[in-house]
Amino acid sequence: MATRQIRTMGDDILYRECKPVKEMTPRLKQLIADMFETMYETGGVGLAAPQVGILKQIVVIDVEDGNQYVLVNPEILETEGSQTGQEGCLSVPGKSGLVTRPNKVKVRAFDENMEEFELVGEEFLARAICHECDHLHGRLYVDLVEGELEDVSDMEDEE
Ligand code: ZN
Repeated sequence: MATRQIRTMGDDILYRECKPVKEMTPRLKQLIADMFETMYETGGVGLAAPQVGILKQIVVIDVEDGNQYVLVNPEILETEGSQTGQEGCLSVPGKSGLVTRPNKVKVRAFDENMEEFELVGEEFLARAICHECDHLHGRLYVDLVEGELEDVSDMEDEE
């Protein structure tokens, strides 16, 4: 495993549409392992492939609920309710902002073995799923921020 360089806001790759994964390959499995390592190294709770420069629909999430989620070609099927809270992003270092997201989402995706599954996430997990899926479609949370982006010195809340 190896950590990868995180692309930051202003990098063109963050604003592009990612391609679905057609088949899992050893190279993509390596990417997934590297994404987890990069995420843990930087204290994030989620990371999308375009953030490390790969335009594929792959997301990893670990919100410390005991699971390491791998979402390949994720598709949000249903959303419910809403929550408003602080959000950050490893691609927007040192910043945080208030974003409203669904409180509950149901997502369909494939895992690292291309087995299809559905996942229901609530609260923080729902927020992470929405944030990371947005990355796959070239969207950054900064466009959803209510009010001003704030400067934050600690990185703990970044996704
Ligand atoms: Zn992000």
